[in-house]
This record gives sequence, structure tokens and C-alpha cells, in this order.
Amino acid sequence: MSRIYLDYTADTPVDERVLSVFTDTARASFANPNSAHSFGFSAKQTVDDSLAKIAELLHVSPDELIFTSGASEANNLAVKGIAFANRRRGKHIISTFLEHSSVSGALTFLQEQGWEIDLVNIQPDGRIDLAHLKSLLRQDTVLCAVCAVDSELGTVQPVQGIAEILKDYPNCRLHIDATQAAGKIPLDLSGVHTASFAPHKFYGLKGCGVLYKAKGVVVEPLIHGGASTTIYRSGTPDAPAAAACAKALELVYSEFDARLKAVTALNQKLRTELAKHPRIRINSPENAVPHILNLSVSGIKGEEMRRLLDARGIAVSVKSACSVPNTPSRAVMAITHDRKNALSSWRISLSHLTTEDEAAQFITVLHEIISEG
Ligand code: PLP
Repeated sequence: MSRIYLDYTADTPVDERVLSVFTDTARASFANPNSAHSFGFSAKQTVDDSLAKIAELLHVSPDELIFTSGASEANNLAVKGIAFANRRRGKHIISTFLEHSSVSGALTFLQEQGWEIDLVNIQPDGRIDLAHLKSLLRQDTVLCAVCAVDSELGTVQPVQGIAEILKDYPNCRLHIDATQAAGKIPLDLSGVHTASFAPHKFYGLKGCGVLYKAKGVVVEPLIHGGASTTIYRSGTPDAPAAAACAKALELVYSEFDARLKAVTALNQKLRTELAKHPRIRINSPENAVPHILNLSVSGIKGEEMRRLLDARGIAVSVKSACSVPNTPSRAVMAITHDRKNALSSWRISLSHLTTEDEAAQFITVLHEIISEG
């Protein structure tokens, strides 16, 4: 049985060009970049060159970038780090129902320690309600944490609109979880204080993440002790991971249009086919990134659908890979207000690597499953 991977939002296969950079650098730059000898200096140079390349692509400065172990750590560093650093200014935080658990979990942790969390309403088109955001903002609001693109529906949030509103609240930092945005939409970090992403979502390697932290923004580190390239995240800098991350991001930029065009065409074909079946509901709003299609089939729980598709060799996801099983999707609930539909929801995610044949096979198998059930 040939297998079809439709879970590119959870992870992507590493690009061979990225892997080559990783293995070449791992051989050449094995030394500790903090060591004071020629081996260490050349490893440090690799890290610095990688930071410079990432910074150039993102139009930020290299010293505004912090390497982490992944986006979960970057989100935790931003959310908890900003909260702890500003605890005397205020303990009010605003976020959304669409966040990945590495943001919502960090917020629950803070709530248990006395921070007050408000969640901004989501409109039927999946975007946050900016008027509601305005009404929630207070002088003691220290953080607004929003995912630029959510992993379940693929909704694109109006980051610049949020940044504009926050200009009137100088104590409030804007954290953007850009994990699903990187590689899918152009990233504009102006007005953003911190932003997270991880290269394994765009054909890079796992075990690496990046936190952008604008100059002047103070975060309390999660890890204490141990030297690094930055005071905000200790641990021996990983030169091969840094170089691989820079390469993956470079490919995102150089191949952006071609990749997006391929995924958009596939998405449109799939939407047309899926809309023909009366039991299929497309939960992803029209303005979502084309890479993510959240679906429900009435009468079949999302978890059951995932299992049935997997048994036929098709890999899809129910909610994000890191969320609690057998609970309705918070994101789908937030836009449809329909618990049954949210329990039936699941997600396919597409790549420029997805072929038309794979998409057609998926539709055939889905119809078979629905007619059997
Ligand atoms: N944020 C979003 C929106 C995600 O989709 C994910 C992973 O699925 C993460 C954060 C966590 O990323 P990582 O696995 O690199 O920790």
C-alpha cells in the first residue's frame, strides 16, 4: 500500500540541501563556539554567519535572534519571560482560543501564579475581533500573545492591525507565534516585540527554534547559568543547527512564490471536490493559508476519521499533534460554536511536495470511508 502524507503542518521532510549544510557543518564546526581557540572561533563564526543570514531575511538585527530547541521553547521564553520581567508593571495578559498549547499552556501556568488572562473573541472568518481586543486592553496589560497563523484552521491574523492598536499601550508587548506563518505567508515583524518559529515546519530540522526579540524588550530567561551567544538562552550554541536553519529559511524565501502557487492550486481543487459532498464541512475559512484545510464529516468523530484514513495509508491530524485527545477542537469551536462539529473536525495539511495524484487518491478514499460509515 502506498502511503500519503498530508500532515505537513505537524512536520515537514528535511530538504536535502538543508541536510547537506547540517552534515557538512557538523563535521567542520564541531567545536564549542564559546571555546577560546581557533576551532571554537570558527564554530562561533558559523553561528554568527547563520544569525546574520536569518536576520537579513527577516529584516531584523542578528542580536535580536535567540536560538532555542524549538517553537515551544521560544513561545515559553517569550510568554513567561515577558510576564516575569514585567510583573511589577502589571499581570494582565490577552491571548486567543487559537493558540498552540505551548502558548496556552504557558498562560495556564501563569494564571495559576496569579496572572489574569483574557481571551479575545474570534469572528466567524477566524480573525480575532479587533474591537473586542481594544475593549480588553488595560494599563496593566503587559502581553498580547497571538498566533499569526493557527495550526488547526490556518487562519491568518491581522498582526499589523494588532500592532497598531497596541501603540497606545506602551507597557503591552506583542508576541506572535509565527510557527505556522513562516514559509506560508510573508513575515512582517514591524511593531512585533517577540516572534517564534521553528525550521522543522519549513523543511529544516527538528531540535531548533528561533525567538525574535526586538531590541529593548526584556525577557527573563527560562534557563539560568551556562554561556551562550545570548544572555537570554544558555547552552552551547549549535553551529550545525544554526547553519541548517539559515539554509531552510533561505530556501523559503527563494522558492516562496513557486511553493505557494503549487499549494494554492491544490487547495482550490480540493475545496471544489470536498464541497460536492453534503456530509463534508470545510471549517478553514476562505482566507486561511492554502496549506491547511480543516474538515468535518458529520457523524464521524475526528479521531475515528484519522484512524480510518491512517488504516488506508493516509496521514492526517486531529487538532495539533501536541494537544489533548478526545476533546473538541478549541479553534473549531471558536469559529463554528458547534461542539459536535468541533469533535468531528480533523485537518489535512498540504505542501508543494503534495502531488495531484495524492490529492485525488485522498478524495477517493474519503468518499469510500463516508459511504461505508
Ligand atoms: N506553535 C504552533 C502554531 C505550532 O503549530 C507548533 C507545532 O505544531 C508549535 C508552536 C510548537 O513547535 P515545536 O514543535 O517546534 O516546539
